[in-house]
Amino acid sequence: MKLEVDAPRLVAEIEALAAISDAEAPAVTRIVFTPTDLKARTWLKAHCEEAGLTVRQDPIGNIFVRWIGSDPALPAVGTGSHIDAIPNAGKYDGVVGVLGGLEAIRALRQSGFRPQHSIELLVFTSEEPTRFGIGCLGSRMLSGTLSPAAARKLKDNAGAGLDEVRGQAGFGGELEAVRLPTGHYKAFIELHIEQGPLLERRKVPLGVVTSIAAPASLRIVIEGAGGHAGAVLMPDRRDALCAAAELILAVESGARASGADDTVATVGICEVFPGAINSIPSQVRLSADVRDTHLQRRDAVLGEIESAGQDIARRRQVSIRNELLNADAPATCAPMVVETLLDACRKHGLASLPIVSRAYHDSLFMSRIAPTGMLFIPCRNGYSHRPDEYASPEDIARGTLVLAETLAALAQ
Ligand SMILES: [Zn+2]
Repeated sequence: MKLEVDAPRLVAEIEALAAISDAEAPAVTRIVFTPTDLKARTWLKAHCEEAGLTVRQDPIGNIFVRWIGSDPALPAVGTGSHIDAIPNAGKYDGVVGVLGGLEAIRALRQSGFRPQHSIELLVFTSEEPTRFGIGCLGSRMLSGTLSPAAARKLKDNAGAGLDEVRGQAGFGGELEAVRLPTGHYKAFIELHIEQGPLLERRKVPLGVVTSIAAPASLRIVIEGAGGHAGAVLMPDRRDALCAAAELILAVESGARASGADDTVATVGICEVFPGAINSIPSQVRLSADVRDTHLQRRDAVLGEIESAGQDIARRRQVSIRNELLNADAPATCAPMVVETLLDACRKHGLASLPIVSRAYHDSLFMSRIAPTGMLFIPCRNGYSHRPDEYASPEDIARGTLVLAETLAALAQ
């Protein structure tokens, strides 16, 4: 099998897809189910059909592009990513995994390889949370992580329900039909830009992901007592912001105390009420984001935030309420997929680095229904979600080559 990736064609397609955007070049904005997203989908499906592949869509708009294997009854080998982009984003996030996946399949066909298992390119709906406030909508539903009933309650920024929005975009059918049975895929691999600086810094062309971190997010409401900043004496105060200050530091020390590099915690929002220079804060709302690759370790930090809150509330005579907004479980990549990726790197004489995915991806949810792995390529300065996001043609081609080799090994 002589595998050859057509890098100029792949780069030209990345550029062409980037031109289907609601932002001025080089920025890309492509929000799910907008006319621009639909135009991009039509463009993509036409390219897939041109390559001789079979295209199917499900009721939430996930696109399945299949190269039927010699034994179509066997579970498929899947690859894919997303083409939606947050406002003012770049060209490569998600797109490299979709167009790279398509190019990998074309390269395999060109080489004369015939898969026994079908090979399927999967384009996920709404990986980005821009429109519905929840990320990985398509893969959450495919994996049964988000129920159809919960999905139907989602509203977009303009207040329109998911069923209404997808109906207008031309996606009918019951959401119950979205979930894939376990066993649909023999394995799933997502090619993606790293969105971090490690590969570039270490001058290694490929990262084989070992685990995918997942966030838990908390809303914390602290209620104290307000009053005149001059009149209320210090012993009588129940200042909500002073309590919040202690709690923010407890969030930080909770993550530091875990002892693992992968444990991170951030308070990104602090809203103070009433917010006047001469008024004691009576209420503070915080948001906290706690991430880890290890579920128990992450949940231990959540436990520490909870008990620190109880202690602060008692000492300062304020009330502290924590509301868990979201808590996805992290994933470990399947050793079988990791090994196959490593073999493919070795076969082509390419160095690779074991790496943790600190952002989360559709693969986090695919890992619940299939042995899953991810392959990272470097991106300049680690930049992502901004117009100057960049991956070189050489790196994209290398990632695509290793992806093709991996798909072949798993599909034969
Ligand atoms: Zn992405």
